[in-house]
Amino acid sequence: MRFFVLEKLREGHHDTEFNRLSSNLGPAMRCPRCGDTIGGLNWLPPYQGELELHGKDFGDLLKGPCGGLLITERFAKDFKAEGLTGLSGFHPVEVMRVRRNHRGPKSGPPPSYLFVTPSYGHPALDMERSRIRSKKIMTCTWCRYIGADAIDGLTLEAGTWNGEDVFRPRGLWGVLIVSERFMRLVERYFTSHITLVPLEKYVWDPLGLYHPRPLQLEPPSKS
Ligand SMILES: [Zn+2]
Repeated sequence: MRFFVLEKLREGHHDTEFNRLSSNLGPAMRCPRCGDTIGGLNWLPPYQGELELHGKDFGDLLKGPCGGLLITERFAKDFKAEGLTGLSGFHPVEVMRVRRNHRGPKSGPPPSYLFVTPSYGHPALDMERSRIRSKKIMTCTWCRYIGADAIDGLTLEAGTWNGEDVFRPRGLWGVLIVSERFMRLVERYFTSHITLVPLEKYVWDPLGLYHPRPLQLEPPSKS
């Protein structure tokens, strides 16, 4: 089985963003072993928000608030019909308004969206074989928190994957991983704003720790 990190691009015909307008939040998850919090707070009903359409058509898969995702009803129907797992909730979202950030003909009304939460708890990163730069050392073998400064390829620990098609791994809650089956579903929908990077090739390196960037020279001063 191959796995991919799901990332949103700031481009594509289906670039759509969602901002929550309702502010009921519940406590974050806690590690059953060390008790530390995992990830952020949870979004609670009412599920209300606004859509920002940057592309031409509404996307079928959007980044949601509080670590969740928004998927269209038609995407959810196929996700279930094909027996995929790893999403829970499926709460209808009330779209209060739509902001369109492009010129040209107006698209029709938005599709119906559902708020879903990716699974967390079984699959864990192999912290030895994953390339993660951090100043901390791992103190809990369950949540495996270290706080990444840079990532240069990830590997799952053999035997921890339980068949989930969408999940956040123990070790890096902030990374959203999907299966090959989920990738094939995504490819059939409006998802030109989504990219899927093979897990072992996933790079996140904002400070250039693994891949130093050429020095940016200041433009010469005019004075
Ligand atoms: Zn822990």
